[in-house]
Amino acid sequence: MVSQTNWAGNIAFSPKHWLAPGSIAALQDDIAAHRKVRIAGSRHSFNNIVDSPETILSTENLNRVIKIDSDAMTVLVEGGARYGDVATTIERKGFALANLASLPHISIAGAVATATHGSGVNNGNLATAVEAIQIVTADGTLATFSRETHPNEFDGMVVNLGALGAVATLTLRIEPTFQISQQVFPHIPLSLALENIDALLGCAYSVSLFTTYGDRTIDQVWVKRRIDQGPPISELLGIAPASDKLHPLAGHDPASCTTQQGIVGPWHERLPHFCMDFTPSSGDELQSEYFIPREHTAAAYRALMVLSAEIQPLLYVSEIRTVKADSLWLSPAFGRDVTAFHFTWRQKSNKVLALLEKIEALLLPLGAQPHWGKVYLHKPTGYARMADFVSLRQAFDLGGKFINPYVERALGH
Ligand SMILES: Cc1cc2nc3c(=O)[nH]c(=O)nc-3n(C[C@H](O)[C@H](O)[C@H](O)COP(=O)(O)OP(=O)(O)OC[C@H]3O[C@@H](n4cnc5c(N)ncnc54)[C@H](O)[C@@H]3O)c2cc1C
Repeated sequence: MVSQTNWAGNIAFSPKHWLAPGSIAALQDDIAAHRKVRIAGSRHSFNNIVDSPETILSTENLNRVIKIDSDAMTVLVEGGARYGDVATTIERKGFALANLASLPHISIAGAVATATHGSGVNNGNLATAVEAIQIVTADGTLATFSRETHPNEFDGMVVNLGALGAVATLTLRIEPTFQISQQVFPHIPLSLALENIDALLGCAYSVSLFTTYGDRTIDQVWVKRRIDQGPPISELLGIAPASDKLHPLAGHDPASCTTQQGIVGPWHERLPHFCMDFTPSSGDELQSEYFIPREHTAAAYRALMVLSAEIQPLLYVSEIRTVKADSLWLSPAFGRDVTAFHFTWRQKSNKVLALLEKIEALLLPLGAQPHWGKVYLHKPTGYARMADFVSLRQAFDLGGKFINPYVERALGH
């Protein structure tokens, strides 16, 4: 038995076989040769989504940027490539991705599989940039799918929870490089923020609110403004930007954070909150996140304030972001603009789980869906295309080679 954990160390994987194929051909052979398989990306998920008692195939050696196509405006990458590496490569050629998550260290196929997102009222999650994928299916065959070749099913294949097969490559949409200025506005008065929540979340290309649910202020608002979309913001709801660089967690060294103070720089060095060359240690934290229909943002915040005395002792920080509606069947933003309430918890699992019960009781009635890759309790419901995804999965993998207990529960088997 092989002993490995996820990034946070809260999930111990225990497969009989842990393999890291060095080529797509080797990935095909390994899949054909094993009865039950799960694929591990950079292992940044916080639940048992990756785990398998039999075989886990890591994509750590499948990390090439294969081709930039400047006519089609796409980049072709292997599934294990990390956003930070791909971003640096395409930036050198004058291109950009539309958005990034808070951390550039995550693998592209792993992030896309769970509908990982950044922020921006006009930005879809990272999976919405996928134009085509190559999947190694249960018998080891490599098959190519694109929006053009499979217009009816493609939207079901992208956010896939690792349940269709191994994503060997992805073709991502790119655009000409752009520049961003990042400013942090501290201590926005809470009542003012909630009264103006739409204006606040929509004030720039990508906006994040950091809070610890104190009764007076939103602790920090991180504003990432494309410089081709308007002038610098001198005041946000009457508050001036911080003159110092800040970490989202009070008292932490901001050296690991991307450049702030309005200093203009390339997209890939401003859209994530943390720098690629800062390697985060395995984190002493858990994360949960819930996606709420955008119109319920202030109501959700006020509901959470009822629990603030219970939340605060377990919380490092909470981040609030926006994701634009999309058409991906298993995306929490399917057909609806959403606001994402993210929580970085101290690793006190039992207490966090008990609190999540109360948080879900408040947020699920508002239409909340949990992040597929984070800690949550209740089985997600309300996905209008879930039955279609179940049929798609069966068509891909009748024998259930890529099914694990997480997928069984998520899909309601
Ligand atoms: C510090 C930190 C910051 C984070 N920030 C954000 C954030 O800003 N926004 C956000 O939305 N989430 C965030 N997350 C969550 C994270 O983005 C997701 O959990 C994401 O799925 C992690 O990608 P991964 O490559 O580590 O995937 P893994 O955790 O390794 O795998 C996730 C899923 O993808 C599948 N998978 C991976 N690779 C393949 C492949 N090649 N083919 C088929 N299936 C595959 C796995 O089987 C599994 O189902 C963060 C997590 C951490 C630890």
